[in-house]
Amino acid sequence: MAVREFAERGADLELVGIQKRFPGFTAIQDLDLTIPAGSFFALLGPSGCGKTTTLRLVAGLEEPTQGRILIGGKDVTATRSHERPVNTVFQSYALFPHMSIIENVAFGLKRRRIGDPLGKAHEALRLVELDHLAQRRPQQLSGGQQQRVALARAIVNRPALLLLDEPLGALDLKLRRQMQLELKTIQEEVGLTFLHVTHDQEEAMTMADTVAVMNKGAIEQMGAPEVLYDLPRTVFVANFLGQSNLFTGAVAGATDTAITVDAAGSRIVVPKSRSARHNGTVTVGVRPEKVTLHAEAPADAPGRNVVGPGRVLDVSFSGVSTQYLVDIPGHDTVLVFAQNTGIGPSAGVGDEVWTSWLIEH
Ligand code: ATP
Repeated sequence: MAVREFAERGADLELVGIQKRFPGFTAIQDLDLTIPAGSFFALLGPSGCGKTTTLRLVAGLEEPTQGRILIGGKDVTATRSHERPVNTVFQSYALFPHMSIIENVAFGLKRRRIGDPLGKAHEALRLVELDHLAQRRPQQLSGGQQQRVALARAIVNRPALLLLDEPLGALDLKLRRQMQLELKTIQEEVGLTFLHVTHDQEEAMTMADTVAVMNKGAIEQMGAPEVLYDLPRTVFVANFLGQSNLFTGAVAGATDTAITVDAAGSRIVVPKSRSARHNGTVTVGVRPEKVTLHAEAPADAPGRNVVGPGRVLDVSFSGVSTQYLVDIPGHDTVLVFAQNTGIGPSAGVGDEVWTSWLIEH
């Protein structure tokens, strides 16, 4: 309850027709984006795609060449950085080493002569569960704890919008996964709008309500994580959000509800609702965990696509699943992730196998 009283609601963010040109280089092409108030939004993309530039534009550290930025419906395009209701948490969190944790968190409030800086700082530290370490110095804290202090410092003055630029990048994998869940919980509790930038697809998918996949200064696709994963609209998005089996072939026919594609030496059926194009050359994708292995040609497989025979090229065991790489002679390879449940098929290198998956996948 205390947490809710502490926080004010976040504001929505709107980017309208944003373009950013540096001398000789266009970093952002034509960006339109609306982030609803109180949501956790992730901007995901490879290095150099324009994520940080987008954050810097929102923070007011860069000026757009074209376009408008609105926070809570107010046009802030011409508003100076420190007057925007925005805070940023960077990967390098640079706490003041000579100050205690509580002084670090209260510093900005004191400087701006905001009332009860220590009370507010303790409240922010309670939120990140570090109030018991308030009197310590930063160097007496672990990396994850220091990152939480940086977060407390960023939310203590209740920004309508919090920008996170790879804030967990410096942490080791285990701590990072733990912090991802903690950040998500904090965001849900305080209800501020979070705009999180990352190149880590797992991080974006675990934390965000909405993910925008960015490529070369433009957004390729935006939506709920599970929708992007199950229904990527482009090969780039399919590949960026995990491994995928991709077969390219010609559309051979169509019914009211499905198209058939000649690919991987087979007829592959794809529901029309899941295909962006219904003619010409298309690429069909299926996630490895949706594919089943068979030791013999499935005689009767209603509702399934069957590709094979092929030979197992490689088997690698990873605990919860085993990864099979199947070579379809003259065509593509198929990757299969089989859950290690103790039941179901297993195969060794060189074995002849067939692969199949449900048409809806
Ligand atoms: P990373 O994940 O590596 O940080 P990013 O997606 O955040 O990458 P940006 O930092 O936004 O990428 O950079 C986008 C592109 O704009 C890059 O190609 C970069 O070289 C270019 N760029 C960024 N700042 C400038 C600048 N001041 N002058 C010229 N080009 C720039």
